[in-house]
Amino acid sequence: MTCCSATTNSYLKHTFYPCLPKFPKMVPTYDPNDDEAGLKLLEDLTTNAHHIQQQVLEEILKKNAQTEYLRGFLNGRSDKEIFKEKVPVVNYEDIKAYIERIANGEPSNIISSQPIIELLTSSGTSGGLPKMMPSTAEELDRKTFFYNLLVPVMNKYVDELDKGKGMYLLFIKPEISTPSGLMARPVLTSYYKSSNFRNRPFNRYNVYTSPDETILCPDSKQSMYCQLLCGLVQRHEVLRVGAVFASAFLRAIKFLEDNWEELCSNIRKGCLSDWITDPGCRTSVSSILGKPYPELSELIECECRGKSWEGIIRKLWPKTKYIEVIVTGSMAQYIPTLEFYSGGLPLVSTMYASSECYFGINFKPLSKPSDVSYTILPNMAYFEFIPVEKDHEQVVHNVQCNGNSDQNCTSKGNEEENLETVDLVDVKLGHYYELVVTTFTGLYRYRVGDILMVTGFYNKAPQFRFVHRRNVVLSIDTDKTNEEDLLNAVKNAYTPLKPLGFLLTEYTSFADTSSIPGHYVLFWELKMKDNSDLPELDRNLMEQCCSILEESLDSVYRRCRKKDNSIGPLELRVVKHGAFDALMDFCVSQGSSVNQYKTPRCIKSEEALKILDSRVVGKFFSEKTPFWEPFKIET
Ligand code: AMP
Repeated sequence: MTCCSATTNSYLKHTFYPCLPKFPKMVPTYDPNDDEAGLKLLEDLTTNAHHIQQQVLEEILKKNAQTEYLRGFLNGRSDKEIFKEKVPVVNYEDIKAYIERIANGEPSNIISSQPIIELLTSSGTSGGLPKMMPSTAEELDRKTFFYNLLVPVMNKYVDELDKGKGMYLLFIKPEISTPSGLMARPVLTSYYKSSNFRNRPFNRYNVYTSPDETILCPDSKQSMYCQLLCGLVQRHEVLRVGAVFASAFLRAIKFLEDNWEELCSNIRKGCLSDWITDPGCRTSVSSILGKPYPELSELIECECRGKSWEGIIRKLWPKTKYIEVIVTGSMAQYIPTLEFYSGGLPLVSTMYASSECYFGINFKPLSKPSDVSYTILPNMAYFEFIPVEKDHEQVVHNVQCNGNSDQNCTSKGNEEENLETVDLVDVKLGHYYELVVTTFTGLYRYRVGDILMVTGFYNKAPQFRFVHRRNVVLSIDTDKTNEEDLLNAVKNAYTPLKPLGFLLTEYTSFADTSSIPGHYVLFWELKMKDNSDLPELDRNLMEQCCSILEESLDSVYRRCRKKDNSIGPLELRVVKHGAFDALMDFCVSQGSSVNQYKTPRCIKSEEALKILDSRVVGKFFSEKTPFWEPFKIET
């Protein structure tokens, strides 16, 4: 969720606003150029976590008790004492109808007293389409406040960031207009397009290498090319590099590997390639490129031509002090590759946030990725926590649903309403919880779906390690494929094989990130109905299965695959009879119970992978990119 976060220009420290001892405003104002004021504010927020949480809830209820949604539970009352008793904990499916009514033109006040100004499309999906989260003008200010607080934290640990620039590779994604005229778009696209982003502190002092026009270019290839070009031209000033997620940063490195010769040629000649046609990109990049730089081009070429790209980041941007990318959660799979390219630079995950709300800041940005914890800021929303079993596989109340899917739980009726939650300041060290938020924007007791573990407290505010997202089995970029979607895709894809007498006896999956972009791998064990010998597999037919698998996955997967090129073609590996028995033997040898053994639908262990790989009889790739278009909202 990086937004060119850290830096401060000491010479900018002039105006000041008082730090707020009593937090009369939910978005406190302070001078973002004043690191001390920022740090003091963080002290105050975390010290008064309980008090602030109570205030947040009071404020949300006071403002929204008369909305149709809350009236249905609270009968117009706004006292926080009855909130937990009367208002149910919900999943997206429970509130989807309200969101869709707003998208179709009904007034915001069915859920929020403040006008909903846009809908933020999450990477989590419902029915194959992105979930949409309401947002307000005030929420944009709250995000800006949050981003500004990242600055003093980073400056506390890394000196003199104001002496150079940040190369942050940021991109916008497609957006749609809903029937009501509200835009529906990803949270970062919304933020980058806002005046809050354009006017972010220090932007006008050119402390970022990417001109706003290149970030806002809707053509991701032109955007990437121009941002890298600007980063290379200004390489000696760059003190930190980054992107939002590790996957995006690695994609940029791959792009550089594929395009460095052309980039160098542009630098050598001092002119931009003709295929960059976006007017904003052309004007802004041309002014940075300015004139021919033959020596600079020679230096860059020399590094890029080298035998190995190990440590290339340090070589190309020699003054870089760290790489700012999220490497927690599903992004942890990219750490080894990032380490290879980075040459030992610290990997910094600054924040934990979502389309629903921004949650927490990493107060120790230089800590090892495995030690990263986020401190939840108590003024961002009202937070509750559902206790989760220690093995963090199954939420306590989900046990009877076999821990399989959220949908199973929801369909069990009113269980959700009786969920016991714990307040922010009452979570216990070492315990696991699922995050529930009540936002200023019209979400009430909403299950975000993230499982977190308490690692400590900063003053009175708990710190959490991100453990995993509930029920996600595969993720390469922002896609989040759950077990159920995978099962449906597998069922669809196996259809052409059925009439030929094939049986699909087992399947599992694996996110292969050994190359960039990563891709989904599915292992299928096939046998014939009549005998156990598999005939030669027809390549066209198997490639058709791969394509159906991709077509069946949700729209975020298909967007990553088709529009963003952030996921490579899906691969199907057919294994011989008995391969999954061998996998079971292995899992049992590792401690799984024979009676309760269920085939894992995603494997991560290298040994398990080896067991299946050694039994592969055929590998097939999807030859077509799946269909994708910006989704439509049904009226
Ligand atoms: P989205 O709704 O598409 O904005 O995605 C938000 C989700 O991304 C969160 O609920 C998390 O599951 C994941 N996420 C965001 N920030 C982090 C982080 N710092 N570490 C791990 N996962 C994250």
